[in-house]
Amino acid sequence: MDPRLYRHVCPGRVVNVQRSNGLIHKATVKAVDAQQRSVSVEWCEAGVVKGKEIEIDDVITLNPELAEELPTAEVKENLPLQENVTVQKQKRRSTLSKIPAPREVAAVTSNVSAPEQKIAAVRGRSRMSVITESQHNLQENEMGVDPCTSTQIRNNLAVPAGRTRASRLRCVPEIVLPNGNGITEDNLPSARISSSQSPGTREQRGTREQWLRTDSPVSVRRKSNIVKEMEKMKNKREEKRAQLTEIRTKRAQEIDSSCPNWEFARMIREFRATLDCQPVSLSDPIEEHRICVCVRKRPLNKQEINKKECDVITVPSKCVLLVHEPKQKVDLTKYLETQTFRFDFSFDECASNEMVYRFTARPLVQTIFEGGKATCFAYGQTGSGKTHTMGGDFSGRAQNASKGIYAFASQDVFFLLSQPRYRSQDLEVYVTFFEIYNGKVFDLLNKKAKLRVLEDGKQQVQVVGLQEKQVNCAEDVIRMIEMGSACRTSGQTFANASSSRSHACFQIILRQRGKLVGKFSLVDLAGNERGADTSSADRQTRMEGAEINKSLLALKECIRALGQNKSHTPFRESKLTQVLRDSFIGTNSRTCMIAMISPGMSSCEYTLNTLRYADRVKELSPHNGGGETQNQMEIEETGMSSGLRHSLSKDEEEDLSPHLFTFREAMTQIGEREEKVVEQLRELRQKMTTELDYLLGITEQPDYDLEIFVSRAKYFIEESSRNFLSARETLDALEVAMQLEEQASKKIRKQRHQ
Ligand code: ADP
Ligand code: MG
Repeated sequence: MDPRLYRHVCPGRVVNVQRSNGLIHKATVKAVDAQQRSVSVEWCEAGVVKGKEIEIDDVITLNPELAEELPTAEVKENLPLQENVTVQKQKRRSTLSKIPAPREVAAVTSNVSAPEQKIAAVRGRSRMSVITESQHNLQENEMGVDPCTSTQIRNNLAVPAGRTRASRLRCVPEIVLPNGNGITEDNLPSARISSSQSPGTREQRGTREQWLRTDSPVSVRRKSNIVKEMEKMKNKREEKRAQLTEIRTKRAQEIDSSCPNWEFARMIREFRATLDCQPVSLSDPIEEHRICVCVRKRPLNKQEINKKECDVITVPSKCVLLVHEPKQKVDLTKYLETQTFRFDFSFDECASNEMVYRFTARPLVQTIFEGGKATCFAYGQTGSGKTHTMGGDFSGRAQNASKGIYAFASQDVFFLLSQPRYRSQDLEVYVTFFEIYNGKVFDLLNKKAKLRVLEDGKQQVQVVGLQEKQVNCAEDVIRMIEMGSACRTSGQTFANASSSRSHACFQIILRQRGKLVGKFSLVDLAGNERGADTSSADRQTRMEGAEINKSLLALKECIRALGQNKSHTPFRESKLTQVLRDSFIGTNSRTCMIAMISPGMSSCEYTLNTLRYADRVKELSPHNGGGETQNQMEIEETGMSSGLRHSLSKDEEEDLSPHLFTFREAMTQIGEREEKVVEQLRELRQKMTTELDYLLGITEQPDYDLEIFVSRAKYFIEESSRNFLSARETLDALEVAMQLEEQASKKIRKQRHQ
């Protein structure tokens, strides 16, 4: 029994006491004997003052509120040290924060369900607050499965930070004193009281209950049935409490053991609780940028949720995105390294395609009506949401093409066309849809026909034979998107199998009486992780990887050149940039890049690479954006271990291993030589067919000139031989390049395995 209870059971206090017949009545405490642990009480009965001495334990049993009256502060003081509040100070730099996994916190939190337990966490920079168990449970649910984490964070943030478990301690349910019929002695008819007072009916119970009645000085130790009943209830209550504690502990253990990275998850959760997330909303102003770079985080998908993947991305505001990179020290202490990136817009997992479109591609639609060129790129790892954003949501194999950026942009084009300003201008809308795979162009609106890219003397690039389909309404466009998308993925077991290795380009072209007015190219880029396939054992994969790598690097350089108004645009570096050349030049060209990221912890390294690339495209950070932005140097210094090097500039690339350099060179040669030999053979076929047809045609004449025939045939054979020899030389050179590439790639593989 807590000695402080004596302070509450003090003289003058009215308490419930029990008669030997089980009835409960009120009595006033007259004296307290702490040593004997007894209390003397008095009450008035039928005008007679009566009294007795009872054990303090019995008083407490009958008056449970006395125990509960102990102030919370006192209860806290009384807790063992380790059960009291643990305060973990946490430093967070504005640019890069390292949040250690506090062992103490981990140890304490692993047993969250212990009722006395409290966990302290740091809120904001130096604020401290206690994370309550109720908040904890809420956050645990939040981290569990719901993809709309940030909505829940927002809800979470509504929970008052300072609420502690103290209130719970005070909220012990009131006990209704059971006296059999709910009657206390105060409201009993006096006749009954007197009849129930017969000393002969009292039971001997071994407690120190002593009657102090003037007419009955006998001290009797007894415990009534009701006290027994109360004790039983108390025991039951305690049993139940123990069971609950056990269930909670088990549940906490279950959560922890089934979530492989629960410590990181908890750290991220605690970090998020310190933020007041304000995502992009419809009321935010739409900004006009020549180059707009945005980032979009997709929600965790079903597989990731089933695998209990940890969401490591937080979008605290409309421009900022945080990556909580899980790290481990040599001593196995886990901590988070939170990196901050700033973009023109950053979209969280709750942003819809409409919302993303509104702030990215939509502001560019007007450009093509003003005689300009616009481009919009979806960049990122395979599975990060590029096709979902550009082409529309897929459910199974069916695509909802009306909900993607291609369709939204087309709808707006038709909307503008219907405006009085443009209605009378004889404008026509055409669309093209093609794929660039391994440096080759295929027409998605013409059964994947392979197309040639030619450049004339004026550097005008032409995709020969590309079908431009005229469209008259948004529905026409949706049909084209569906047709092209089906063509892109046809013959594949998995929709992402080869589409992730190709760039898909959907163009909306505006013409006035046949003359080009403007062009909007919307590109769903190949998965950037494919650019790292340089050490694959399979040449085809290596070549695809090299081509992707090359084109993504060239794209970055072209956009940067556009942003810096440079006269030289390195568009010739890849087929993608070559085809889009006219969009990168001219004063009225605008572009937008949406970096797509997967939120899972397992994608963290790819995500960081994607963000670094996007960061380089515009270099909005660190100085021209202000706010919490990671220093560029820090970005470059951090883990560049994977084969993804899109964030490197060209000079930095050349510092890489000589094998990688040779490999890249060889790949370029292979591409060029392959293209050359194909062109040579094509020409040979053309010439031979025409010439042979002509020569054989002569011989069919009844009186043809034999001399002319002989000299022409000899000339033809000599020229053809020269052409064949030249093609043969190209093939030899191609073979050399292939061998060079093979050796370099073997060496790279060996180097990586060392
Ligand atoms: P990518 O084209 O980058 O390889 P996808 O667009 O095919 O990736 O997306 C992979 C999967 O994730 C698809 O099933 C897609 O429906 C889903 N997904 C992508 N982004 C989102 C999003 N923002 N909301 C819901 N599901 C998404
Ligand atoms: Mg895709």
